[in-house]
Amino acid sequence: MNTEKEPTHVYLARRPCGCVIGVTVDMADKATGGHVAEFIASGHAVERVDFEQYRAAVVHETGFLKSVCPHQAAILAAEPVQAALL
Ligand SMILES: [Zn+2]
Repeated sequence: MNTEKEPTHVYLARRPCGCVIGVTVDMADKATGGHVAEFIASGHAVERVDFEQYRAAVVHETGFLKSVCPHQAAILAAEPVQAALL
């Protein structure tokens, strides 16, 4: 029995500020479930979108897969003392 299917969706992990920090292709398997569980365990909101929406919109979002997103950069700039201690 062949149950393999081409993936059509991705899971996104979003920071509390809304920026996408992680992406995993939805393979509908255990590994995908593990990735999603990690996203949730890290305190991120998980969202499932299809490839079309992902390519058309998500990859163009400000802060997409940035290690320091614009919101964090603003916080660091506003709090130089704390930033210096990091
Ligand atoms: Zn952000």
